[in-house]
Amino acid sequence: MKVQPRLLISIIFPLVISVLSLLIYVGYSEYKNNQNAAISQATSNVRIAREYLEHHFHSAQSHLYLLEQLWEEKNSIDGLMGAAQTIVSEKSKYLEVGLLAYGNYYGTDGFYREAVAQKVAKRPWYMPARAGQSYITPMYLSGSTGKWTVAFVAVLETVKQQEVRIILEVDVESLYDNLSLLKTLDHGYVYAVERGTGNIVMHPDPSRIGTPSVSVSRDLLAVIEEGKGAGIISSYEYKDKEKFSVYEVNDLHNWIVLSGAAKSEIIMHTFSISAVTLSLLVFILIIGLSFYIIHRVHIYGRQLSEVESLPELLDALKQMVEGVIGCQSIHLYMRNVYSGDFESAQCKHCISEKELRLNLASKLGRLAKLPEKQPDILSAFLAPGKACIRVPLTKNKQLIGLLYITSPRLELPFFINMLRTYAQGALGHVMLALRIQQTDAMTGLRNKNYLQAQIEKQLKAEAKCYVAMIDIDDFKIINDSYGHLFGDKVITSVANCLREESDRHAVVARYGGEEFAILLPAKDLLAAKAKLESIRSSVSGVEITDGRKSCRVHVSIGVAEVSDNMEKSIARADQALYQAKANGKNQVVIYCLNSMLQTTFAE
Ligand code: GH3
Ligand code: MG
Ligand code: MG
Repeated sequence: MKVQPRLLISIIFPLVISVLSLLIYVGYSEYKNNQNAAISQATSNVRIAREYLEHHFHSAQSHLYLLEQLWEEKNSIDGLMGAAQTIVSEKSKYLEVGLLAYGNYYGTDGFYREAVAQKVAKRPWYMPARAGQSYITPMYLSGSTGKWTVAFVAVLETVKQQEVRIILEVDVESLYDNLSLLKTLDHGYVYAVERGTGNIVMHPDPSRIGTPSVSVSRDLLAVIEEGKGAGIISSYEYKDKEKFSVYEVNDLHNWIVLSGAAKSEIIMHTFSISAVTLSLLVFILIIGLSFYIIHRVHIYGRQLSEVESLPELLDALKQMVEGVIGCQSIHLYMRNVYSGDFESAQCKHCISEKELRLNLASKLGRLAKLPEKQPDILSAFLAPGKACIRVPLTKNKQLIGLLYITSPRLELPFFINMLRTYAQGALGHVMLALRIQQTDAMTGLRNKNYLQAQIEKQLKAEAKCYVAMIDIDDFKIINDSYGHLFGDKVITSVANCLREESDRHAVVARYGGEEFAILLPAKDLLAAKAKLESIRSSVSGVEITDGRKSCRVHVSIGVAEVSDNMEKSIARADQALYQAKANGKNQVVIYCLNSMLQTTFAE
C-alpha cells in the first residue's frame, strides 16, 4: 500500500501537536509524582525526627524522675550529686545536673554557690512552678558550657522553707547529630523551630540556631495556635531559592519539627527521570526549527524560480544567500553556450572552460569549501584573503555556472545543496530565456538584437573590433531553381560554415533573410579582411546537397571598423557590402573613412 505524501504532510502538524501535548502531560504528571514523593519523604522524616526527639526527651524525663526519687528517699545532697555525676558522665547529651537546695546551688561540674535564693529567679532555667511540678524550659545559651541547652526541671517539696529544684541540662546540638542524616530529596534537611518564640532550635547550620525562622512565619504560628498542628508550608524563599516544608508540632517539647527541600530539586528530579521525554522534546524542537528554516529556504527559492532576467537572478540569489547562509557577497559565473567560456555575470572577467578544468580538474562539479589560504583560481581573483564556498551549478550533468559565496556564516551542506538546487534551476531558466532572446531559431546563430547589443558593448571597450556584413550572392535564383526548402538548407549550411570558420570570440549572427554579420576582434582592418577572406573562400568550397540536388554558393562581404556608434558602424559595413556586389560579388570589400578602398578577389 502506497501512502500519499500529501496525506503524510497533512498529519504531521496534528501529530507534532499531539506528541507535544503528551510530553507536556507526561512531564507535568512526573513533576506531580515527584512532588508527592518529596512531600511524603519529608513527612516521614518529620515523623522519625519527632519520635527520635520524644525518645530522648522521655529518657531525660526518666533520668530526672530517678533523681527526684533519690532526693525524696534520702534528702542527701551528696547522694543526689553522686548519682547525677554518673548520669552526666555516661550520657554525652547531658551537659550538667544542678540542684537548688537549702538556698544553695550545687552543679555536677563542681560549681557551688551559696545563698542564691534571691538571684535564682534570673537563671534561664527558672520558671515559676509549684512543688511536684516539672517543666521543660525554652532553649537558652548556657553560660557555663556556652552550648545551646534545654533544661528539664523538677520542682520538689520545699525543705526548711527553701525551694528545691533539680535541673537536668540537655545539649540540643548533640541531639541533632543523628537527625542530620535525614534528607528530603538530595539536599533537603530536618530542622526545628521553637513554637513560643519562632526561633530555630535545630538546624544543619549551627549559626542559624537561636535566629528567627524564615519558613515559620507569624501567620503560620497563628494557624498552629488555632490547632492545626501539622501541615505543609507550600512555598517560601530562603537564600534565593523557593522551598517547601512539611511541619508537625510536638506538644511534649513545644517544638515545630520540619523537613523540606528546594522546589528546583523536584524539577531536577523530574528532568533526570524524564531525560527521554526531554530529549524527545529537543528532537521535536530541532525538527520544528529545521522545518521553519526549510520553509524559509523554499520562500527564497520560490522568488528565485520566478526570475526572468539576469539582474533579477542576481538580486534573488543575493537575497537567498544572505537570508539562508548569511554572507558578505556572491559572485556568479555563467557558461557562454557559444564560446564555452565562463563569464562573470557581474564584471567583465572571463575564463575559458579549458583553463578552469586545468585548475580545478575533477573537483569542478563538487561543492567546495575554500579556506582563506586555499583559494581556487577564481576565488583568489574575486575575494583575495577571504573564505569562500564554490557552488557548481549544472544542467543535464553539464556545468552551466559557478556560484561563489564569500565569507559564509553558515556552512551546512544541507542548506547549501538546497540553495544549489534552486540556483541551478533558476540559472538554467535564465540562460534558456537569454538564448531564446539572442538566437536565430533557424540557424542557431546569434540574432540581430544580440549582435547590435554586442556592438554597443564593444564601442565602450578599448580593443579594436570590426563588423562584417555578409550576403549570399544570387540567392533568389537558388530559391527559384531548387525551391525554398532547399534555399533554407543553403542558409543553414552557410551559417554552419561561418560559425566553424570564425574565432571563438567572434560573434556570428544571422542579420535577416540570407544576410549574416560577424563582429570580430582584429589588430587592424587588413587583418580583419584577411580573416574574412578565408571565411569567404571556405563558404564557396562547401557543397550543399539534399541527396538529390546539390549546389555551391558564394558570398559578398563588406567590413568596417566599429566606431562612432552602432548604426553608423553597420551602415559603413553595408556600404562596403554594396560595393562588393557592385564589383561583381564573391569578394571582400573594406570600408575606409574618406575613399572606399576596394580589394577584389576574383575566383
Ligand atoms: P544578390 O546577389 O544581389 O544578393 O541577389 P539575391 O538574389 O541574393 O538577392 P535578393 O535580395 O533579390 O533575394 C534574396 C531572397 O532571399 C529573397 C527572399 O525570398 C529570400 N529569402 C529571404 N529569407 C529567406 C529564407 O529564410 N528562406 C529562403 N528559402 N529564402 C529566403
Ligand atoms: Mg540580400
Ligand atoms: Mg543575396
